[in-house]
Amino acid sequence: MQRDYYEVLGVRRDASQADLKRAFRALALRYHPDRNPDDLDAERRFKEVVEAYETLSEPQTRKRYDRLGPLYRRDGRPPTPEEVSAMLGRALGGLFRKRGARGQGKDIDVRIEVGLEDVLRGAQHGITVPRQVRCQPCEGSGADPEGRKVCEDCAGTGKSASRRWLRSECARCDGKGWVSTKRCTQCDGAGLHGSEGRFEVKVPAGCGNGQKLRLAGRGDESTGDAPAGDLMVVIGVREHPFFRRRGTDLFCDLPVTYPQAALGADVTAPLLDGETTIRLAPGTPSGKQLRLPERGVPPVGGGRRGDLHLRVLVEVPQDLTADQRADLERLARSFEDRQHPQRAELERLRQELLQRART
Ligand SMILES: [Zn+2]
Ligand SMILES: [Zn+2]
Repeated sequence: MQRDYYEVLGVRRDASQADLKRAFRALALRYHPDRNPDDLDAERRFKEVVEAYETLSEPQTRKRYDRLGPLYRRDGRPPTPEEVSAMLGRALGGLFRKRGARGQGKDIDVRIEVGLEDVLRGAQHGITVPRQVRCQPCEGSGADPEGRKVCEDCAGTGKSASRRWLRSECARCDGKGWVSTKRCTQCDGAGLHGSEGRFEVKVPAGCGNGQKLRLAGRGDESTGDAPAGDLMVVIGVREHPFFRRRGTDLFCDLPVTYPQAALGADVTAPLLDGETTIRLAPGTPSGKQLRLPERGVPPVGGGRRGDLHLRVLVEVPQDLTADQRADLERLARSFEDRQHPQRAELERLRQELLQRART
C-alpha cells in the first residue's frame, strides 16, 4: 500500500513549494544512503521521499495527485524501479550538488548593432551586460565564512565512507570538508550576485549580419572553481539608406538629370568613406552600370575590398513651369527617330507585328 505523499514528507496538504522543498531536504539528508550505509529501511524511506517530492514539486502532477490520489499516474501503477532511479539521479543532482558548484558559469547572449561604416573599417563597441559574479565574502560558497564548521560525517576530509552511491564525495558537505551553519548575508546563500560587466567588443572589418563573436570567460561566473561562461555577441548590421551589400560588393543608384545624361557631365557620387567624381559620357543611357573597383567592403580577416556598383538613373523632372514645358515640347518636335534608337526599334517591331496580323 502506497503511503500518502504529504504524509511521507510530513507536510500539510496546502504546503507551499518552499515548505515542500524544506521538508524534502531535511528528510533526504536524514535517509541518504551515504549516511545510512547498508540500512535497507533508510534506503526505502529515501526512495519514498524522493518519489513524493518529485510528484508534488511539479504543480501539474501535484494537481492530478490531489484529485486522484495514488491513481494520479496514467497507468495507475506505482513508479517502476527504472523510474525511481531516474528520480534519484535528478534529486541527487539537484539537491546534493549545489547549483553550479562544479559547473561552468552560464553563457550570456547579447546583440549589438553596427553600421556599414563599421563593416568597412572595423570598430570598438563598449557594451554593458548584466551578469552574475562570484560573491567575494563567501568566495561563491554561499556560506558565511564566520559560520563554517568541520563536517562531522567525513571529519573534514570531504570523502564519503560508502561508494555505493553515485560518487565518493561526502554527501553532507558536498566534498568541501566543512558545512555552513549560516548563509552568507551578502548573496543570501546564492554564492553569486548580479552585477554589470563593461566590455569592449572588437567588431572586425568585413563582419556579416548575424556573425557571432565569443568573449571567453565574460559570461556568468561560477560558484566553484569552474571557469566563467562566455559572452556571445551577435552582430547586427544596420541597413544603409543608400548602399546595399552583397558579400563584399556594394550597390547603389546614382540619379542624374536628363541634361546631364544627354550632354555628359561630371557628377559626384558618395562613397562609404568619402566621395568621388564620375565622368558621365554624353548620351549615357538610364540604367547604365558603372563599377568602381575596391570601393566595396573588405572580406572578414582582411584582403581586397569588393567593388562598388553604381546604376545611373535618369530622373524625369517634376512640376514643369509653363516655359519649361514649351521648351521641352519644342525640343521633342526637333528629335529624329535615330536619336532614340531603342524607341525607334520598338516602333519598327510594332509595325511589323501589325502587318503580320493583317495578312
Ligand atoms: Zn563531509
Ligand atoms: Zn556570498
